[in-house]
Amino acid sequence: MCGVPQEKEGVCNSCLAEQPHFRVLRAWSVFDGPVREALHKLKYQRAISLGWTLASQMLDFVKVELNWPVDAVVPVPLGRSRLRERGYNQVETIAKPLALGLGLQYFRDGLKRHKETRSQVGLTKSERRENIRDAFVADARVKGKSILVVDDVSTTGATLSAGAEALFLTGAKDVYALTVARALPQHGLESA
Ligand SMILES: [Zn+2]
Repeated sequence: MCGVPQEKEGVCNSCLAEQPHFRVLRAWSVFDGPVREALHKLKYQRAISLGWTLASQMLDFVKVELNWPVDAVVPVPLGRSRLRERGYNQVETIAKPLALGLGLQYFRDGLKRHKETRSQVGLTKSERRENIRDAFVADARVKGKSILVVDDVSTTGATLSAGAEALFLTGAKDVYALTVARALPQHGLESA
């Protein structure tokens, strides 16, 4: 479910212990090499056009390999203070061209943060879950829709699970989660 690569088939121990709220989470790439560099530039160096570049590279993977039955794309939102500081949400620069390329509806404010959370960087898995709990509220437009929720990097999947929970609470029919990259355990919880 969580998309962490494992040796054997089936649901991993972590998902068995606590089932995430999304149906499934997948990433296009591992959080490494040029993808990691591109995401860093997109987030911290205002290289906004890289969002389009990454989305166009991801299209085939999402359309052909995943081929999920989804109606609309929703980006994971930034907190208000972080949005003010950065001036843009880097996730939107990926999610919007992805929605266009897939021919799906795009709900920019499908999820909103209604509490400020501290950065997840450096927190353990259970700390991340606690930090992000109740952080999101979903827009009424998601009702009855199958939603593709998009983020830039996934580590434990706690943020996407909290977003999925809010989407379901508002009546979403189903929630699939996608990130550009997945930080693997060897990257540590410090990386993303
Ligand atoms: Zn899992």
